[in-house]
Amino acid sequence: MIRPHTLYKLLHEAFGNQHWWPMDKSYHRRHHTDPRFEVVVGAILTQNTAWPNVEKALDNLKQSRVLDVENLATMDREELCLLIKPSGFFNQKAERLGKLSAYLSTTYQGDLDVFFARDLHEIRAELLFLSGIGPETADSILLYAGNLPIFVVDAYTKRLCARLPLPIPLTYDEIQQYFEKNLQTHYPAHQLSSIYNELHALIVTLAKQHCRKKPVCEPCPLKMHCAFGP
Ligand code: SF4
Repeated sequence: MIRPHTLYKLLHEAFGNQHWWPMDKSYHRRHHTDPRFEVVVGAILTQNTAWPNVEKALDNLKQSRVLDVENLATMDREELCLLIKPSGFFNQKAERLGKLSAYLSTTYQGDLDVFFARDLHEIRAELLFLSGIGPETADSILLYAGNLPIFVVDAYTKRLCARLPLPIPLTYDEIQQYFEKNLQTHYPAHQLSSIYNELHALIVTLAKQHCRKKPVCEPCPLKMHCAFGP
């Protein structure tokens, strides 16, 4: 039976580095803003939508030069809705972005160094306390913006676990703990955030290229290890 560290090796051999999370560093250099905030915003905008729609919304925010904590915390809600409209569910997402930005502004003066320089579980609990931020969004922010070692579980991961199958119940926390426990025994602590980063991205690539709703198993790099495959 395949284990997470083997899964990582096979997927990495097949697809290589995925270079997540995309952020426009040159924009942030030019405007003296924090690129990690783009990841925070992207993690909320990507809820229930495809990434190209998120990119359009992020482009609108950049063109209006408001992709920073203070601007999103204070800007007119209707204006924000218009800018993020391409990402769908824009009323809901504008409210979430406004509240999170206001929280970061008032509690941490918008300083993400201060926000992320604490115990991972303390930050996670704080994020989960905010409305509209569930485990997947919170963990994406922690891993991809904060570079903190926590494995992100999404619908693709759950589907893959069910198909291989991996010997775990399919709750978010149990899948996360199973992956982390296995990977922690194979990699040193200082490498874990980059391993979690790559593995989640690799699973997304696998799900898009092969392990779709209707799977394309023949060219899949996991077919020799998968009970669901050919
Ligand atoms: S063999 Fe098929 S079902 Fe199994 S992981 Fe690959 S694409 Fe998914």
